[in-house]
Parts: sequence; structure tokens; C-alpha cells
Amino acid sequence: MERYDLAIIGAGIVGLATARELLARRPGMRIAVVDRAGEVGTGQTGHNSGVIHAGIYYKPGSLKARLCVEGAARMYAFCEERGIAVERCGKVIVALRESELGRLDELERRGQANGVPGLRRLTAPQITELEPHCTGIAGLHSPNTGIVDFAAVARALADDVRQAGGEIVLGRAVTGVARDNGEVRLDGAEVAARNAVFCAGGQASRLALAAGASEDPRIVPFRGQYLRLRPEARELVRGLIYPVPDPDLPFLGVHLTKHISGDVLLGPSAMLVGGLRWPGTWKVMRRFWKTGVQELHMAVNRRAFVAACARYVPELRVGDVTGGPAGVRAQAVGRDGALVDDFVFSEAAGTLHVRNAPSPAATSSLAIADLIADRVHDAFGAAA
Ligand SMILES: Cc1cc2nc3c(=O)[nH]c(=O)nc-3n(C[C@H](O)[C@H](O)[C@H](O)COP(=O)(O)OP(=O)(O)OC[C@H]3O[C@@H](n4cnc5c(N)ncnc54)[C@H](O)[C@@H]3O)c2cc1C
Repeated sequence: MERYDLAIIGAGIVGLATARELLARRPGMRIAVVDRAGEVGTGQTGHNSGVIHAGIYYKPGSLKARLCVEGAARMYAFCEERGIAVERCGKVIVALRESELGRLDELERRGQANGVPGLRRLTAPQITELEPHCTGIAGLHSPNTGIVDFAAVARALADDVRQAGGEIVLGRAVTGVARDNGEVRLDGAEVAARNAVFCAGGQASRLALAAGASEDPRIVPFRGQYLRLRPEARELVRGLIYPVPDPDLPFLGVHLTKHISGDVLLGPSAMLVGGLRWPGTWKVMRRFWKTGVQELHMAVNRRAFVAACARYVPELRVGDVTGGPAGVRAQAVGRDGALVDDFVFSEAAGTLHVRNAPSPAATSSLAIADLIADRVHDAFGAAA
């Protein structure tokens, strides 16, 4: 059994940024970041759209808005300082129908209130100037939205943690959590620490329950499948093309995104793939059954998936795409069926649990780490 002052479970972007922040505040602290995978950043961190969000969508004054705007600025600075490939390719949010204009107005209002740099309204011809193959009746342009490989960011954060004396303990799955002699014992991982912080993404609820925290909210997994544009069709998309999102859903809708590798991905779909023993899941299904049917149709029918994207890029054809990667969103759902939109923490003896770190948590990770480090101090004081 290896012993530490603090163990962080999850070497995703949130766990690693938190370890780095804590070591900067308390040099010499013995920290281990434990992950079941053999590498860092293999969870949601390595399977997402790779977009540095600018902070348009979120309610002004909310934690999510503040952390995204601040996190994006810090993410660009970090990547530039560390030589990680990053590109401010810009994003257009496109309205196709009159009925979407009210929601586009609201996004513009929110973006301005949140201090998103350079945000401006687009007419139909201005959309085509930026994205020559895209059509819509009006749009919003965010020049500060960009792209990065968040797994590369996670690797750089892990280097910083090691440099500061922290350990990254890989290939060790935590199977149980016990309190023993004033220590938290991480069964299965052969690690014990005075305190532990869980940043375990999709496993957040299971490990929180194991540590004795409340069962509400529960992580419900949503699978997001992408398609990839064939290299010869990549010129159809210059940057990032997004729909006007449904305000009731915490997802942004199927988008067309250039990746830092040069790939262009379409997606992700958002299909519920588990959590059926949680009452909240059934309430979500009852509320969103129509969306669920559409998502299922897209999941099994590539033609339907491409048709959804061709509403924005009409030249797009089924022959332009191949299969792409998939990611699983760890979305917290309350017992009452509410899709939890913001971060949720809970505590049990000696442990702090990040129960919900949804998009744009990769963008915001460096700012979220500050918040978690404050919570660690509040929960464990000098003992941490
Ligand atoms: C399809 C999709 C698209 C997205 N697009 C974007 C985007 O464009 N921009 C953006 O900012 N955000 C995006 N997000 C959200 C973003 O990816 C996540 O919010 C972020 O990566 C969360 O990081 P994390 O460290 O909390 O979780 P994760 O990266 O999931 O890390 C959790 C870690 O915990 C480990 N773990 C779990 N259980 C155990 C255990 N029992 N023992 C040991 N280790 C364990 C896992 O191996 C994993 O490494 C997207 C997410 C998805 C799924």
C-alpha cells in the first residue's frame, strides 16, 4: 500500500489540472493521481469535439459562464506556452428557420453579457463569406472559439504534476473505497491517502456511493457517435459550424468540426446508453422521447445523420463520410429527471466528489481546478 497526503482518482483533464493547481499552492504535498487506464486522458478528455468554447451559451453570472470564459483564455495561454498545437479557427452558429431567430438573439445577448471576445451577428451572405459551403438565414460568429487536442493538454498537465513532485499512478482501477485508521483506502489500486478527490467522469456516481456519499445525482451515460469527412471533402468545412441548440437539452446539437489533426468530424449524436435503474433516467426518456427517437434513427442510419448535417452544408453527400470515433458523456441526472447543467460536488468522510463536469469542462479545466482546490481546502483544511 502506497501512502499519500492526497489521492486524486481520474487522470482526465479535470483531475490532472486539479493536481497541478494543488501542487502549485502547496509545494511538497504528496499527491498521487490514480487512473485505471494505462495512459492519461483516455476518458471523455480523449474522445470529444476538441473545441475550446468561448462561453456563448451559458447563463450570464453562472459559474459555467465565468469558468468557460476564464478557462478558454487560460487554455490558449497554456497551449501557447507549452507548444501544444491550437488554432483559433472561429465558429459560426447558424439559424435555418425564422423560428430559431429568438434563440439566436438570446445566444447573442448571453455571449455579450459573458464577455465573449469578438462576437458578432451574421447575415446570410456573411455566413457564406466565412463558410463558403454553409447556408442559413442568420448566424453568430465567434472568432475566439478554437480547436485543440485535449488529450495532448492532459499529457502536458501530467508532465507538470510529475515535475512538481506528484505521482501519476496508471493501470490501477479503484474498485472500492474504505475509511481505515483516519485514512481513505482505495481498494484495487493499492493506494491510501489522508484524503481523496474523485474526478472519475463516468464512474463518479459509483465511486461516490462506494465512499458513502449521497446517491443523487446519478451519472447517466450518453453515447456520442461521430462521422468523419473523407479527406477530399474536408474543404466543405473551414472551421466550426454549429446549429442553434435546443435550450432544454444540455447538448449543443450535431455540429461539423474541424479538428487540430486536420480531420473534420460530424456529430456527436447523443444516445442514452445506460442508467436504467435510476428513476431519473425514465423521467428523462419520457420528457425527451421525440429527441431520443431521432437520435436512435441517426445512430442506425448514416443517411439520416448526414441529412441532419446537410441542412447546414447542402453539398454534403453520404459518400463524403466514413465512420468516426465515439465518446461517452458523463451526464448527471437528478432523481427527479433534471439534466444537471452545472458542476456538482458531494462529500463523504475524507472524500470530495466531482459528480458532474459536463462540457465545456475540458475548455474550463484550468479554471475548474482553482474551484476544486478551494473546495479541497474548505473540506480538508490543512490536512490536505
Ligand atoms: C462526445 C463529447 C464531446 C465533447 N466536446 C467537448 C468540447 O468540444 N469542448 C469541451 O470543452 N468539452 C467537451 N466535452 C466535455 C469534456 O470532454 C469533459 O467535460 C471533460 O473531458 C471531463 O474531464 P474529466 O477529467 O472530468 O473526465 P474524464 O476525461 O472522463 O476522466 C475521468 C478519468 O477517470 C478514470 N476512472 C474512472 N473510473 C475509475 C476507477 N474506478 N479507477 C481509476 N480511474 C478511474 C477514467 O479512466 C478517466 O481517465 C465533450 C464530451 C463528450 C463525451
